[in-house]
Amino acid sequence: MKLQDIGTPVSTIAGVGPSLEKLLAKLGIFTVSDLLSYWPKTWEDRTRKIPLSAWNSTAKVHTIAQVLRHDWFGFGRMRTLKIIIDDGTATAALVCFNRSFLEKSLPVGSVIAVTGRFAPRYGEIQTTAFEATCLSKSASIDEFMDKPVPGSAVFPIYPLTAGLSQTQLRKVIGKALKEYCRGIENELPESVIEKRALMLKKEAVFSMHEPRDIEMAEKAKYSLIYEELYHFQETILRRSQEHRKTAAEAMKTADGSKKTFEETLSPKQKQLLGRLPFELTEDQKKVIYEMNFDIDLSNNQPDAECATLRKPGNGAPTEEPAERCVPDNAHGAGTIPVDADGAGAPSSTAKVANTPVARFHMARLLQGDVGSGKTLAAFFAALRTIDYGGQCVMMAPTEILARQHANNAAKLLEPLGIKVAFLTGNLKASGRTPLLDALKKGEIDIVIGTHAVFSQSVLYHDLRFVIIDEQHRFGVVQRNAVLDKGRQSVVQREKLAKGIMPRSPDFLLMSATPIPQTLAHTIFGDLDISIIKSMPAGRQPIKTYLTKEGNESRVYEAVRQELKNGHQAYFVYPLIEGLSGDADSNASGADEADDAAQDMAAFNADSRARRNDFAADGGAGSGGSSQKALKSAEAMFSFLSQKVYPEFKCALVHSRTDEADQIAALEAFRKNEVQVLVATSVVEVGVDVPNATCMVIEHAERFGLAALHQLRGRVGRGSAASFCFLVYSEKLTELGKARLKVLHESTDGFYIGEEDLKLRGPGDVNGIQQSGYITLGIADPVRDKAILELARADILENLAS
Ligand code: ADP
Ligand code: MG
Repeated sequence: MKLQDIGTPVSTIAGVGPSLEKLLAKLGIFTVSDLLSYWPKTWEDRTRKIPLSAWNSTAKVHTIAQVLRHDWFGFGRMRTLKIIIDDGTATAALVCFNRSFLEKSLPVGSVIAVTGRFAPRYGEIQTTAFEATCLSKSASIDEFMDKPVPGSAVFPIYPLTAGLSQTQLRKVIGKALKEYCRGIENELPESVIEKRALMLKKEAVFSMHEPRDIEMAEKAKYSLIYEELYHFQETILRRSQEHRKTAAEAMKTADGSKKTFEETLSPKQKQLLGRLPFELTEDQKKVIYEMNFDIDLSNNQPDAECATLRKPGNGAPTEEPAERCVPDNAHGAGTIPVDADGAGAPSSTAKVANTPVARFHMARLLQGDVGSGKTLAAFFAALRTIDYGGQCVMMAPTEILARQHANNAAKLLEPLGIKVAFLTGNLKASGRTPLLDALKKGEIDIVIGTHAVFSQSVLYHDLRFVIIDEQHRFGVVQRNAVLDKGRQSVVQREKLAKGIMPRSPDFLLMSATPIPQTLAHTIFGDLDISIIKSMPAGRQPIKTYLTKEGNESRVYEAVRQELKNGHQAYFVYPLIEGLSGDADSNASGADEADDAAQDMAAFNADSRARRNDFAADGGAGSGGSSQKALKSAEAMFSFLSQKVYPEFKCALVHSRTDEADQIAALEAFRKNEVQVLVATSVVEVGVDVPNATCMVIEHAERFGLAALHQLRGRVGRGSAASFCFLVYSEKLTELGKARLKVLHESTDGFYIGEEDLKLRGPGDVNGIQQSGYITLGIADPVRDKAILELARADILENLAS
């Protein structure tokens, strides 16, 4: 039987009465399975002798000693026995509060076994909490020198609840082990157990609770972690297996063709390449190449007939899932898994969404540091899709960023004859109606916007490529909703009506908040991952300075020098206005007010949760400093523009400034009509003004590491040297210091991402778990990264065979 299937109530175990049952329930233990998988948090190793002289090591003293004499101190009822012992390495005292009876059981001259934690007190080494047993009343200690200390074992230490002791719990678990352990089945393939020298499941369970020695306990733990990560990854990897296989085969055939990069481009891609004033970086080329394969694959696959498909509108809507429909003439006939995204899509158009879709589509995460040129790579992929006759959409988390992408696209793509549109929730009906109409007719090739691009009212002609920029700002993307949009395109619906399966659009997530590779596999395991590591040529590293609150004037002067040299600066604050406690970070996306807001409520709720998480982090980092002491963007705008930089032009942006004013301010900043831009974290993503060389972030400890890294990425985009000043609170905690130090030391987003996770601490993948990515038991994907990799390799091997 599998461990998790032993559903027998704990109360059936001898000795578990109603009161113990209640205590166990408090720990979440109801069944034998719960009990046996209630893992110890650590073990106490009493197999090794730890002499008195080692009293200040991390472990307890565990030794054999001779009783030298009995001392007494205190008077009357407070009279207390002190037993002085010596084990040949040191002399120490056992202070026997309320244990005067030990006078008899541990008499002077006896040899005793002692376990306990000792500390220096009143000029001697003492313990008050100890266990001692008499081994002999008259022998010499020399006779025991080479013998093990009696009672030597490794003891599991469990998390407890009031009223329950370690001994009680150990006893119950011991009984359960005797009765059930033998019957526990392996859940890993034999081959893997053998290859990785893991314990059998029943051995592992036994050794967690009653290990012979610490090595055995550790091996058991390792085996269980491995098993958990294996199962977790297996689900994810199976889902994408077929996808990868197809893509990998295509890659193989094409790799032999020895074409130059340029020769692999589609006509419009070639045109764009020809118009760029710079060379693509090697990594950009690699990523474009990878995406091209996927796009070719997905656009060239034959239409899959869908004979058994219930026609839409045919009969009453039903809650049952639509019948499974496996194409007989698609790639790898019969083996293509039904797209897991299709199931249970939370969409109002679930009838179409529930249609099984068994086609290949690109599903890729593009990671690249801030400023590495991801957008351009994405544009290349869009052009290929457009060459195939499909439509593309690019979604950005903020209006500012979306607008900038749209401007860029207009500049780069319109000259190639591409029709670009910009769509946000704020678009007036007069502009919106014709735009939606053009989209539906297929007169627009690429639409760029906020999540409004996925509003219910937006209907595409033939959406085949979806790009989501700054994915981390959305948290877990509701991929279903996005893919559905493509399946509901006019063309796809027409196909469906003819019994042809609708196609899922290709899908590209972009993120500049690098998730450490292995973790990315865990979280986005069913996505292919592309990475841009190289930066465009000519970029200079950004110098980062940490400045304690109170020394801002020095920062302001340093910035003044840069301004005098014709450069520009950002000043970023955690609050919009004084005392409001309202950070812009909470307002990302909240500026959209239309049906999309509902569609995408999950996006926002999630991003808000993540933001709050960061804010809470920061709050702790600042030692709980009150809101009152916080500077706000509005107040500092007045101060900086009037008192500090009256000779320069300053502007203010945050999510509550009027849209028109926001655009005007950013435009003025871009044109260098404004030199100082005071802002909240609305400028965290995307804003691209190469002449800006200074980023000042006050109350830096209030921002998450990822946000700080992003903000810093706003500078260093031109050829001039750039600077980032992090002004931090006096009351910075150790953790707060460590976080800022990471930023001070590195501008490598991959390293920062890794450190960020480390600082959150092993066992606390909080940010990730909170955002609903994963829930694991004994394993911790950060701490157990190495095991995760092994498990992953083994699964891939097994899947391939
Ligand atoms: P990301 O989105 O990865 O942070 P962007 O796409 O905003 O980066 O690119 C940053 C800037 O670098 C943009 O101004 C872009 O035009 C420019 N850029 C992109 N690729 C190159 C390249 N190969 N060489 C020089 N500049 C580039
Ligand atoms: Mg970008």
